[in-house]
Amino acid sequence: MRYYTLTQARIERSRWTGAYDLGREWVLPGVECPTCKAVWGGGGYDYPTVDLSELPGRQDFEQPRCVPWNQFVSLRKRVMPLVPPGAVVGPGTGFGALTGRAKGKFAPVVIHVPWMLLVEPALVAKLEGLTGAIPVPTRFKARPGMTGLVELEVRPGGSILGAATHKPCSTCGRTGFVLPPFGQLHLDEVPTVDFARSCASVAVVSERVLERLERELKESDIVAVDVTGEDEKRTGAQRSSIDVLP
Ligand SMILES: [Zn+2]
Repeated sequence: MRYYTLTQARIERSRWTGAYDLGREWVLPGVECPTCKAVWGGGGYDYPTVDLSELPGRQDFEQPRCVPWNQFVSLRKRVMPLVPPGAVVGPGTGFGALTGRAKGKFAPVVIHVPWMLLVEPALVAKLEGLTGAIPVPTRFKARPGMTGLVELEVRPGGSILGAATHKPCSTCGRTGFVLPPFGQLHLDEVPTVDFARSCASVAVVSERVLERLERELKESDIVAVDVTGEDEKRTGAQRSSIDVLP
């Protein structure tokens, strides 16, 4: 099975003017790490299915901020019982629906930031039978009448070639790994599901997703980038007619 990451083609004067802010119902704070000294948080490991509305003291998760490492650890401990197995939960991890402001006209498939996949509600039925994506309605603040969008929760799976050679910080887990550019970005371990998050900022989809959403991806000006590796390049794409970069 081939795997791809999806990206927005650069189109001058695109008919899709939709944009949104990255607000979320709840979020773990960012940190200042006492070991590696990095100040960081956020960037992909978000779980819109996780509902903190019944969690005592949920207000502690409502304001994005930066806290000392020890405080982060105690906040994370409080949410872990609510988080799905295998979830990566780090500084800046978000929970619950997207809540930012949205405006403009959205394509059927939306990749506003590369690690987040959103689709129009009508497309959810077309994803039936595909694995690894859980649809969660957004709660954007928008003008009345704007079509809502559904975010796909994509959980960790697979890994990026080269990432494992960078030793993570013993305290916060951050590594100095920098993603290679498209064309040189390849999977090390291939996921077992159709949608997977292979690192914080890379969600990958299988060739089955390309086949299923062929028309909508084209209509949305989205390009697929093959990240599988060396052999059988482009076989999945040949079955669909989505533009594919090597
Ligand atoms: Zn650190």
